[in-house]
Parts: sequence; structure tokens; C-alpha cells
Amino acid sequence: MSWVHCNKCFAEPNENGVKGTFFLTSCSHISCQKCYESSRNVCHTCKKQNIKVLRIDSSLNKQYRQYFVDISRVIASKMEEMGKIRKFQDIQIQNLVKGTLKFQDVVKKSQEMLKKYEIEHKKLKKENQELLVALKKR
Ligand SMILES: [Zn+2]
Ligand SMILES: [Zn+2]
Repeated sequence: MSWVHCNKCFAEPNENGVKGTFFLTSCSHISCQKCYESSRNVCHTCKKQNIKVLRIDSSLNKQYRQYFVDISRVIASKMEEMGKIRKFQDIQIQNLVKGTLKFQDVVKKSQEMLKKYEIEHKKLKKENQELLVALKKR
């Protein structure tokens, strides 16, 4: 969290000479302990009065702590997660396409067979008629 700094004196946490914790104000500003103690319930950045503050440490609740996460790391991890989901869905879609193509192949082969049978049937019908005619002539 190299960007965290007191919005008034620009001190950074752990910087030499800066003691105590940092605070997040209810008006979304950040203050070091020294500046907070010198201005108390008035925000030194936006001059809002009767502000409330929260300590920026592990006690900060999740709702506010998320503002201090390493956003690039979150994005990288989300991207990895999305990549896995994408891969899974791609495999499913490929399988569906393969299955559909196979099914289309079966339908095509059945139609071809049906056509062959129809031709055969016509041929047999014609032969039958010719035989009948031949029989009648006798
Ligand atoms: Zn300060
Ligand atoms: Zn403020």
C-alpha cells in the first residue's frame, strides 16, 4: 500500500519519524495520528465537522478494508479465475458442437440410405409390373 499517505502532511505509514496508526475518516480521507490529534473531529482536508474515524489496521472491517487491497493482485487473480471458467465453458461448447456434428452425420447417412431404398423400391415395383405384364401375355 505504497500510496497510503496522510492527506495533510503526506507522511506514509512506517516512514521514519511517523508514529502511531493511520485513520480513515468518514469523509474518505486519510490522516496520520499526529494530524488527526491536532484537528480532532474536523477533517483537515475537507473541513467537514463531527467526522468519525476508523483505524487503518487489521481491525478495519471488510467493507472498508477492501479499499486497501492490492488491486493489481486482485485483478490478476480474477483473470486467472476467469481463464479457468472460460476454458471449462470452451470444452463444454466444443463437446456440444462435436455431438451436434455427429448427430448431423447420422441424419445425413439415414437420408442417403432412405434415398437408396426408395430407388430400389421403384426398381422392384417396375420389375414386378413387367413380370405381371409378361404373365398376362402367356
Ligand atoms: Zn499527517
Ligand atoms: Zn474529509
